Amino acid sequence: MTARGVAAFDLTGRTTLVSGSSQGIGRALAEGLAEAGARVVVHGRDAAKAAVAAAEISAATGVEAHSVAFDITDAAAVDAGMTEVESLIGTPDILVNNAGIQRRAPIAEFAEEDWDALVGTNLSGVFHLARRTSRGMIERGSGKIIQIGSVQSQLARPSIAAYSATKGAIVMFTKGLCADLAPHGIQANAIAPGYFETALTQALVDDEQFSAWVKGRTPAGRWGDVRDLVGALVFLASPASDFVNGQTLFVDGGMTAVV
Ligand code: NDP
Repeated sequence: MTARGVAAFDLTGRTTLVSGSSQGIGRALAEGLAEAGARVVVHGRDAAKAAVAAAEISAATGVEAHSVAFDITDAAAVDAGMTEVESLIGTPDILVNNAGIQRRAPIAEFAEEDWDALVGTNLSGVFHLARRTSRGMIERGSGKIIQIGSVQSQLARPSIAAYSATKGAIVMFTKGLCADLAPHGIQANAIAPGYFETALTQALVDDEQFSAWVKGRTPAGRWGDVRDLVGALVFLASPASDFVNGQTLFVDGGMTAVV
């Protein structure tokens, strides 16, 4: 029977891989899932950084946390990395497809290698992880895939056309995953964060003019704190969202609701 009330949000014993969780948003998401009871695998390219984050999450929550390191732009590396993940926790109950990068330049000067890096990480990397993990989820007949979009899934700004293209694609890729995977008992949804203070946005946080713009443009009047994302994630990772599929939930202090 479907769990009801608070029990519907319980993640005790669930297993999760959060890509790009050695720092920033992914790190907060991994810790939030651990606090809700899930066993987590922390991930990034830098093995030492991921191992430190896993140890800290485990110490803070008392929950088992492992770490793996592989580059999501490389399909073969994802395959090998996911085999390692499976040896640690089996096929994850919850995949959080979070790892992503940013590159900024006006379009006329946009470097080919920056375009390739953005598409390779934010789109192909997400595809590699979803494809590989879906196989085990299909076999099991259950799973939750949560992709991380952005307000740039819906809104553009100067100098980030390429990033916006990759984040817009996350919305449609999530719907496509729903179409393919819902019949197998799998839910695929996305969270689209507004402006959050992390390493990715440090230059913007430090830019007084830009920071004032963010606060003025966000109805909530502030930058997001990474902890603001955890409630939406626990919802989308738990049985509470078993009939929610293919959706993108904006967690942006109201930014995309207001002109
Ligand atoms: P950070 O730069 O702070 O962290 C990125 C993480 O991804 C790191 O753990 C990094 O580890 C990992 N990573 C990057 N590239 C790869 C790769 N090729 N293979 C494996 N791991 C990789 O970013 P944020 O926490 O700010 O962003 C996380 C996600 O949230 C991204 O998808 C971003 O687009 C999205 N987002 C962020 C917003 C913000 O305001 N910060 C707003 C909206 C969306 P390592 O360096 O060791 O590889």
